Amino acid sequence: MKFVSTRGQTEPHSFLEAVKVGLAPDGGLFVPESLPDLSGELRSWAGKSYPELCAAFFRHFATDIPESELKELIVDAYSRFDHKEYAPLVKLDAKIDVLELFHGPTLAFKDFALQLLGKFYERQVALSGESINVLGATSGDTGAAAISGLLGKPGVNIFILYPDGRVSPLQERQMTCTEASNVYPLCVTGSFDDAQAALKEVFGDKAYSQSVRLSAVNSINLARILAQCVYYIYAWLQLPEAIREKTTFVVPTGNFGNVLAGWMASQMGMNVAGFRVATNQNDILDRFFSSGNYSVGDVEPSLAPSMDIQIASNFERFLYYTTGEDAAKTRETMSEIKERKAFSCEDTEVLHSMSSSRMGDAEIRETISSVYERFGYVVDPHTACGFKDLDTLEHCVILSTAHPAKFPNVVEETLGQTSTHPSLDALKMHDIIKFPLPSEANSIKEFIASKQ
Ligand SMILES: *Cc1c(COP(=O)(O)O)cnc(C)c1O
Repeated sequence: MKFVSTRGQTEPHSFLEAVKVGLAPDGGLFVPESLPDLSGELRSWAGKSYPELCAAFFRHFATDIPESELKELIVDAYSRFDHKEYAPLVKLDAKIDVLELFHGPTLAFKDFALQLLGKFYERQVALSGESINVLGATSGDTGAAAISGLLGKPGVNIFILYPDGRVSPLQERQMTCTEASNVYPLCVTGSFDDAQAALKEVFGDKAYSQSVRLSAVNSINLARILAQCVYYIYAWLQLPEAIREKTTFVVPTGNFGNVLAGWMASQMGMNVAGFRVATNQNDILDRFFSSGNYSVGDVEPSLAPSMDIQIASNFERFLYYTTGEDAAKTRETMSEIKERKAFSCEDTEVLHSMSSSRMGDAEIRETISSVYERFGYVVDPHTACGFKDLDTLEHCVILSTAHPAKFPNVVEETLGQTSTHPSLDALKMHDIIKFPLPSEANSIKEFIASKQ
């Protein structure tokens, strides 16, 4: 299998090449040359363990990794999950299931992708004999998950920029209390957008980034999307056959990465009733799916910070598929969005391909309480956004993207009880090691160079 760019101006790449470069050289995102039709095979995967299912799925894509090695790598990637089912499906009532995606080492769904991505990087370094420096910026969960996925890997240094004072204390601890010598949490001045801008400038210096073999860890990497397809299929296979096609997956969304993965699985043959994009008050995607109006506003910090995003980077892949894989059209729309910070869509087929909802902060608090009262089940503020207008759905699977213990303050304020997790408690025993820097490309470049 080869991978092409959504903008159509990049030579086809092998899986490992596409994973290594992340963003396609023409500025687009990598997608499979063609989506395989798995409809014949899917049902036969029922009963497989999570790693077995993941290996069966990746066989179709990671064709440049020998099969036995791929299996071993996947088993290893998921060995640090603390639940024997990895992604357990919890029934709240006849119409609502919750897919718990928070049993990985950093207690958020991003572990599914980043533990695996860490193994791909490790293999790449071992094969090429060349060390790499991984650089990313985070508003919290991605940084923690990326650090955890690359912790202690030989030949890999990881540098994560995060805005000083703007990530939660527990997220900061997850990044800074690892005591691993290859981890550099860089706490930078300003906002997440400032950090992101500095990071872009560092990568923009091609001579520099090549000289230190810099690699980006962000939400657009192809391997992340594919890794996320697997838990949708895993959940779908656990539903009774008669319900599968009546099920809507409800997905708390920011960058559009998570829900896009499910939608891609459906394009490969996983038949479902649909997908619902659940946003917080940063509702660009809800506005798009309800009115066709995609216009980038300012980010308003919310109780669900990992969804405080206005530019949904994975949206480009959706545009590509819904234009019938038309790279020229995708290029056109992306440049329109870049120039006008907006575009509008009148194609009802596209707009009806997903439904959407929005939840403000007050409603997030009310929902955490009402879900607890109704089901005795504690949800985190991101997952809470999924519990909106469920009456209109015949059956749904709500993706739970983080463990409530990651957001103890909101949970305590609303339920009057604390939510804890042993792995978070254990962090408090370790010293915080972080490196304060200005949000400025030159300082970051000097810092990385000094660690070679
Ligand atoms: C990252 C994150 C999200 C949003 O995921 P996207 O792929 O950006 O849609 C939702 N919830 C939590 C807890 C997250 O960490």
